[in-house]
Amino acid sequence: MAQATLGILGGGQLGRMLAEAALPLGVRCVVFDDSSDSCAAAYAPVITGDLRDQATLLELASQVDVVSFEFENVPADSVAFLRERGHVVHPGPQALLTAQDRWNEKRFFRDLGIQTAPFARVDDAASLQLAIDQLGLPAVLKARRLGYDGKGQLFLAHPEQADVALPTLGNVPCILERVVTFDRELSLVSARSVNGDIVHYPLVENRHAGGVLRWTQAPAQGVPEGMQRRAEAAAVQVLEALDYVGVLAIEWFQVGDALLANEMAPRVHNSGHWSIEGAATSQFENHVRAVLGLPLGSTETRPCAMVNLLGVIPDRKALLSVPGVRLHDYDKAPRQGRKLGHVTVTGPDMPTVMERTRRVREIVEGTAG
Ligand code: AMP
Repeated sequence: MAQATLGILGGGQLGRMLAEAALPLGVRCVVFDDSSDSCAAAYAPVITGDLRDQATLLELASQVDVVSFEFENVPADSVAFLRERGHVVHPGPQALLTAQDRWNEKRFFRDLGIQTAPFARVDDAASLQLAIDQLGLPAVLKARRLGYDGKGQLFLAHPEQADVALPTLGNVPCILERVVTFDRELSLVSARSVNGDIVHYPLVENRHAGGVLRWTQAPAQGVPEGMQRRAEAAAVQVLEALDYVGVLAIEWFQVGDALLANEMAPRVHNSGHWSIEGAATSQFENHVRAVLGLPLGSTETRPCAMVNLLGVIPDRKALLSVPGVRLHDYDKAPRQGRKLGHVTVTGPDMPTVMERTRRVREIVEGTAG
């Protein structure tokens, strides 16, 4: 019999992997998704409805001990509503309100003394001009809300691009950020439990193309002395300021010895998928443990990499013939650029892992969709 039941708002691949990780802990999940073909359905029953619908939210809450979520555009009002009705929901609405709005998010980092790219608020053509005067070009204009994977963003290199920039993004509230010439992109995944215990995974290196994560190396190699400690200290500040419970990811730009916070995700994160095979306890299991008040598991790591499968699942035989490969097919309908699965690569040492990853990327990039 299940020891506990967890409700998950959202039933995409993150919900699927959370429900999968919960099973061996004796934790059953119930998913609430607005689509009827949720890929989490393989591991959990799915309630279908509007995530703002209070009656359906209460129906879910009545079936579970704790409610959590797997995507950051969950309506913060829905989380606040369930909490007001006495239900346990982790993380809380403050984390969502901060992460859902780039202006709130960047100010939150700045107020905690965490360095970011210089940024300014943009509401109209006049404030965009002011922001360009203040920050200079090149800069990147980002919609404050609902941007992800590079969507809702525009790089501005020349002043004359300013006129069309806001209309191109739909005249929505934005921020302008100075373009950072970073050495590389890193992320840190951390988990904080109900009793305040915190664990961190090692900093990992992420390679993006077109704003979308392509592959991750875990741990990142050649991290300067003290950088892991500084990233962890910043994450602790974020977690504690939000009284956060669950897994949280912070994405960073590394510039020399400095770390600039780009954004945070109040949920399990694509740059933590490697942890299923690469860490003693995966980010998914640690999220389940954290929100249910179970002890957090070790984040001890072995050399690992993760490659996203976008738009198409390549030839399985070719992929699985590479040693150390594990395939995660999310069982989603193929669509151009859609995250359909990922591959994890492990091996005895990092050079071996990177050589195997090169072979996997050759297969993946040869069949990219
Ligand atoms: P975001 O949606 O903010 O994570 O941005 C998607 C990707 O765009 C990032 O992973 C970076 O590769 C790139 N990017 C975002 N902001 C900046 C910036 N200020 N300077 C340089 N590159 C950026």
